[in-house]
Amino acid sequence: MDWNDERQVDVFFKAHAGLRRQGPGNAETTQRALERVGALPKGARVIDLGCGPGASTVDLAQRLPDARVLGIDLHAPFVEELTESIRQHGLEARAHGTVGDMAAPPADAGPFDLMWSEGAAYAIGFERALSCWRPLLAPGGRIACSEAVWLSDERPPEVVANWEEYPEMTDRLGCLERAARAGLRLVSDFTLPESAWLEHYYDPMERTLEGLRTRYAGDDVALSVLEECQFEIDVYRRYSDVYGYQFFVFETA
Ligand code: SAH
Repeated sequence: MDWNDERQVDVFFKAHAGLRRQGPGNAETTQRALERVGALPKGARVIDLGCGPGASTVDLAQRLPDARVLGIDLHAPFVEELTESIRQHGLEARAHGTVGDMAAPPADAGPFDLMWSEGAAYAIGFERALSCWRPLLAPGGRIACSEAVWLSDERPPEVVANWEEYPEMTDRLGCLERAARAGLRLVSDFTLPESAWLEHYYDPMERTLEGLRTRYAGDDVALSVLEECQFEIDVYRRYSDVYGYQFFVFETA
């Protein structure tokens, strides 16, 4: 799709509206990654980069009861959703949302004991993201970050078409090499289960798409955007063994 076409972008955001998660991940995988991070200092500073509506931001604030958690995202409506969610959970004293670029996280809020990012680093490129974030890590700090990876050497044409906007996608080892170039080494990692893609992301998105197809009947531009979203879901259902998301926990090398 054409990201410079406002109408297409609008339909794309409508297809993604109301989803608690804007990428693969759920409470279980956030918890699992957090366990791999290990102990954090008292009053730890945590940042969730590309937080979207902030399901993980709120999760982190709840699971780390004395940490200060900041969610940052470029898309202001997502930050508004996060702020509302923080209020609903009574976390205003320790959790905040801010509109900003994850390539330049607010240095005055750091250094960070934990830099978190689910399904978002790809937006600026995995290696660039890690390189931007590492200088803001506190001594002994960790980066926990999920990233799309090839899980097999098979490259069916539909899968290649699905990922054409992210040609730099690599496999797990490729990610570790990029992390090493950014001055980081692996603490632990795991592959997200299929349920983490479907439960809060593709299943509810598919229900939204059904409604939008009726609403945009006869509007070829809008329908083609909806078709692309559906294509992404269909390809994942067929080829979840070919690509997936890997959750990495890194420390300074
Ligand atoms: N972590 C969230 C959202 C993942 S979708 C979740 O798992 O639900 C990717 C997010 O990255 C989107 O919310 C998008 O607005 C955000 N994003 C893309 N480029 C960004 C940038 N340069 N800086 C900050 N956020 C960005």
